[in-house]
Amino acid sequence: MALIVQKFGGTSVGSIERIEQVADKVKKHREAGDDLVVVLSAMSGETNRLIDLAKQITDQPVPRELDVIVSTGEQVTIALLTMALIKRGVPAVSYTGNQVRILTDSAHNKARILQIDDHKIRADLKEGRVVVVAGFQGVDEHGSITTLGRGGSDTTGVALAAALKADECQIYTDVDGVYTTDPRVVPQARRLEKITFEEMLEMASLGSKVLQIRSVEFAGKYNVPLRVLHSFKEGPGTLITIDEEESMEQPIISGIAFNRDEAKLTIRGVPDTPGVAFKILGPISASNIEVDMIVQNVAHDNTTDFTFTVHRNEYEKAQSVLENTAREIGAREVIGDTKIAKVSIVGVGMRSHAGVASRMFEALAKESINIQMISTSEIKVSVVIEEKYLELAVRALHTAFELDAPARQGE
Ligand code: ADP
Ligand code: ASP
Ligand code: MG
Repeated sequence: MALIVQKFGGTSVGSIERIEQVADKVKKHREAGDDLVVVLSAMSGETNRLIDLAKQITDQPVPRELDVIVSTGEQVTIALLTMALIKRGVPAVSYTGNQVRILTDSAHNKARILQIDDHKIRADLKEGRVVVVAGFQGVDEHGSITTLGRGGSDTTGVALAAALKADECQIYTDVDGVYTTDPRVVPQARRLEKITFEEMLEMASLGSKVLQIRSVEFAGKYNVPLRVLHSFKEGPGTLITIDEEESMEQPIISGIAFNRDEAKLTIRGVPDTPGVAFKILGPISASNIEVDMIVQNVAHDNTTDFTFTVHRNEYEKAQSVLENTAREIGAREVIGDTKIAKVSIVGVGMRSHAGVASRMFEALAKESINIQMISTSEIKVSVVIEEKYLELAVRALHTAFELDAPARQGE
């Protein structure tokens, strides 16, 4: 008999009908003999609705109180599913994060899980009950409700699987696995049988929101077998694995990630003296603004241009900090651009293949897409381009790296 943690996302519990369907599915698994812990998201759209309510009161809700409101979405779905299970004759009980005692730090809206008390859950499983846990939420040492950041129910699922030493953590969602790129953007995207934790972590960090970044970190750290599956269609899904060898038969690139979350700032005509990068980025980091990509041009006329990207939400704040800096250090001007997108190719195969970046640049050049910034690591190459070319770029790269699904007969 296996112990499985099953997490169902927002669309999978988005209506009463869907919740009844999830209950049927859980019942079937339970009858097959497995012990089950089920983690749920709020109904799709609910978390946004709750945030919007808070924003109608104030632009900047107190983070602690925002957690009190946004955590309620998951409390609704766990009760409904538990009722649906009991109605079907399946013994079940629901718990909020606080009731389990999922202890987190106090970083409201982006808390990290520190410890999970597994006593209650184990006792219930022993009594034959299905345990239904609210995703996305925990409690800090002061007893305040915390939440784990958007998409955080994935992390609750993986963390519970790690704490309970579950045989597998299954993430049920509205796609039947992890694809070579977002199937909503590229219809030719292919489902991957397997992907390594390392690649999945890059994909998630670079914008593929199919799994929350922290859930992948957690699964890698505690070696939790993790699988992404469709909630209502049968199929093997995608296994996230530590085994690099097994995915070696795949192409050099496993996937293409992209995001539209960033904005670009350039400070021009900066006197080129030692310490210039620190003078520019010091005040940015002191304002708690995270910087992603950085490019400093070679100096000419003893001045240099310095460009970096930040999250779009922090663009205005970063711009005003940078304008202050420009005045202080005598730089010529600050310019910015919010209409950019970042496209990244990811794959462990890059380690053993040369020329991957140039193949990427060639594919973009063929579409006359201008590359504004580049950054690389061992298993990824990212470029910043004009936002309006995003979909074209992703499709061109998907084809150039031979990721397209074979056309079906007659197509
Ligand atoms: P849930 O509500 O179940 O947590 P999410 O919306 O968070 O679901 O994640 C599933 C979505 O992730 C899919 O509908 C898909 O559009 C998107 N997605 C982005 N990149 C990928 C990818 N590489 N593979 C599969 N899905 C992806
Ligand atoms: N309900 C939360 C959100 O929408 C958490 C989750 O769905 O994973 O972000
Ligand atoms: Mg999600």
